Amino acid sequence: MPFVALGLVADLARAVAAQGYTAPTPIQSQAIPMILAGRDLLAAAQTGTGKTAAFTLPLLQRLQIHEGRVLPAGRPRALVLTPTRELAAQIADSVRVYGRHVAPRTALLVGGVSMGPQFDALRRRVDVLVATPGRLLDHLSQKTVSLAGVEILVLDEADRMLDLGFLPAIRRLLALVPKRRQTLLFSATFADPIRQLA
Ligand code: AMP
Repeated sequence: MPFVALGLVADLARAVAAQGYTAPTPIQSQAIPMILAGRDLLAAAQTGTGKTAAFTLPLLQRLQIHEGRVLPAGRPRALVLTPTRELAAQIADSVRVYGRHVAPRTALLVGGVSMGPQFDALRRRVDVLVATPGRLLDHLSQKTVSLAGVEILVLDEADRMLDLGFLPAIRRLLALVPKRRQTLLFSATFADPIRQLA
């Protein structure tokens, strides 16, 4: 089944074809139509299954980004939380690659690097914010970013975030995003702490 049959618009399907993907992976076939329909999602998927495209593609479609739209600076419409800066960088790259014909504004907030360029990124419109939980909380305490406009929240590799001790941070972040939103949770395992979080 091709990507357009899952409901993806041509701009996104073209970007996927340019990557050389001929058919969706199983997680993509299952997740993309549900996310496009606005449903919340709990998905069991490990790295290597194509899960990044499974949430990035429909997320970009739902945001219906257009350049002319005026949005306040530093107020992302989609937030992707992920455990490590390497994963965050990969996701931000995927947003740019899959969104090449949609032109999303992406910001990457991760620890271990200086905050200066991150402040600069937040002084502009941000469609998709990709972050690790600790650094995002640092920015929130400095009021350089607001989560009040988040429409779609993605918790990527949720089990690893919990393993790394991010549960308190995630709970604080969950209190700052609007209650009315779409939530997508990806995890390789579904032990009790993940079920409770879900
Ligand atoms: P991920 O599980 O998101 O880390 O993706 C693993 C790898 O699979 C990445 O290098 C993607 O570029 C690649 N990939 C994602 N979707 C597809 C697809 N439908 N066909 C072929 N490769 C894909």
